[in-house]
Amino acid sequence: MQIRVLGCHGADCLVEATDRPVRQESCGFLIDDSVLLDAGTIGTRLTLAEQHRIRFVLLSHLHFDHIKGLPLLVDNLAEWFVAPVVVAATEPVIQGLIDHVFNDKVYPNFFKIPNQDHPVLQAQVLDPGKTVTLGHLDVIPVPVNHAVPTVGYIVKDRGSALLYSGDTYQTEEIWSVGRTTPNLKAAFIESSFPDELGELAKRSKHLTPSLFLKEFQKLGRPDLPVYAYHMKPAYRHQIEEQISRLGIERVAFLAEGQIITV
Ligand SMILES: [Zn+2]
Ligand SMILES: [Zn+2]
Repeated sequence: MQIRVLGCHGADCLVEATDRPVRQESCGFLIDDSVLLDAGTIGTRLTLAEQHRIRFVLLSHLHFDHIKGLPLLVDNLAEWFVAPVVVAATEPVIQGLIDHVFNDKVYPNFFKIPNQDHPVLQAQVLDPGKTVTLGHLDVIPVPVNHAVPTVGYIVKDRGSALLYSGDTYQTEEIWSVGRTTPNLKAAFIESSFPDELGELAKRSKHLTPSLFLKEFQKLGRPDLPVYAYHMKPAYRHQIEEQISRLGIERVAFLAEGQIITV
């Protein structure tokens, strides 16, 4: 399974770097060219042809930084689409998209355009805990502990599995599912704020580096490659420093443009 990082931060930001500025962007991960995991970033990283190859959009929750690429993806596809793009998410997320985004006020209802029988977007409601097949992947949505209904995902192809935490505070179920997943090859775990902002992390239901370690340890796989993501751009350096000091064997930090093969 190949995962292309379109965005892996908790917001968008242009950051000064030595030769030219670097763009940090909201979460969007393109799996094997056809399945998009969260939709915070799409069109700023993908050509039109690449956008056309997306067949499934898998959403963890309704927060803006995870859905904001979707309306503009649809706009790029609308004139040309052959088959609907399947938006797969739990019921509150699908309902939220219809009520608050594609509501003919904020944006046209592309779940019904150009017509009800052949729309650009097609909703697929996921039941937490139930495996669903999306193209060549099997996916298990697992509820996590965030400010709004949120799931993390176990994403599997024939040979390997990836654990994606979603936005979360301290949680249990996803780690127990992860522990029993055969061929688990990597985990993406969020870490939004530095330890100094533990109170804010608790209120907004995100992890800090010390909580990141505690959550990762619940997997019982100290040798597993683990990737930190969803860092708020303002704190990226602090978070990296703090996680690097925790003595985790195979920890890395996701960056835009990276391709991870599991
Ligand atoms: Zn987020
Ligand atoms: Zn969130």
